Amino acid sequence: MQNAIVKALINEEQIRLYFIDNTQLLRDIYALNQELPKPLKLLLGKTVSAMSILSGTLKGNQRMSIQVTLSNPHHKIFAEAEANGNVRGYLNEELLRTSNIEEKSMQDLIGPSGMIRVIKGSEMNQFTSITDMPNQHITDDIANYFVQSDQTPTYLYSDIQLDNGASLLSSHALYAQLLPGAPPHLLSEVKMIVKANPDIFSKLNAEKASDSEEALTQLFGDAKIIGHSSSQFFCGCSKEMFYGMLYSLSEEEIKRSIERKEDIEAFCHICGKTYTFKQKEMQQLF
Ligand SMILES: [Zn+2]
Repeated sequence: MQNAIVKALINEEQIRLYFIDNTQLLRDIYALNQELPKPLKLLLGKTVSAMSILSGTLKGNQRMSIQVTLSNPHHKIFAEAEANGNVRGYLNEELLRTSNIEEKSMQDLIGPSGMIRVIKGSEMNQFTSITDMPNQHITDDIANYFVQSDQTPTYLYSDIQLDNGASLLSSHALYAQLLPGAPPHLLSEVKMIVKANPDIFSKLNAEKASDSEEALTQLFGDAKIIGHSSSQFFCGCSKEMFYGMLYSLSEEEIKRSIERKEDIEAFCHICGKTYTFKQKEMQQLF
């Protein structure tokens, strides 16, 4: 099932395990970032893929946003997920402009002093945590955030397959978290089973929930599917949001555009939408 998070309990209901085929979500993100060199594609893809599966852990009107700052502090990756499964993500301009990185590994780009900042919660009740990136690895270090900030042992895995031309073939993610009281070694066992089964997602992907349950049971001993939720790319930008940007232009600039009878165009670098502000709309700003 594409863009559907399958939620299960395994190991006698001691571990929460979710997985997703989010190929379509990543395809939508990559369509807006076509010229990205492979290492950046993977950095963005893995961050977004992790957030898409984590959207399944959010409730009500909760949202979670992440900012990954690479060792070069000007290089940042942003992604955001909402409880309804809407996910967006992008790289900042400085990172997009970096040259000669085709041959670099993700580990090289993250470097020894990467940082992760997570803001999680609902509008009235937000928590910010900053953790370092000891593994120089997107999903391992997001999992490390859960250990550091929530004291909850967590495993996150993202598998992105690109062809030789760096076009997307498939994307999947898996999340496992120990439930209170469960012995920590159970999570290491899940990790080992995932590592030992490189084709795990082709085994798990099934049209019917009962087939997924059977596949999970074969891999992990026992499993119970407890639900599904969707996750999809959605920007959520609006013209109103870009009025704020217009205000940040100087009055002089706006007046000049009005004199020249030029419209102002605002471009959303997350989803690629362009908003045009007509003369009349700009005059209303004064
Ligand atoms: Zn947008």
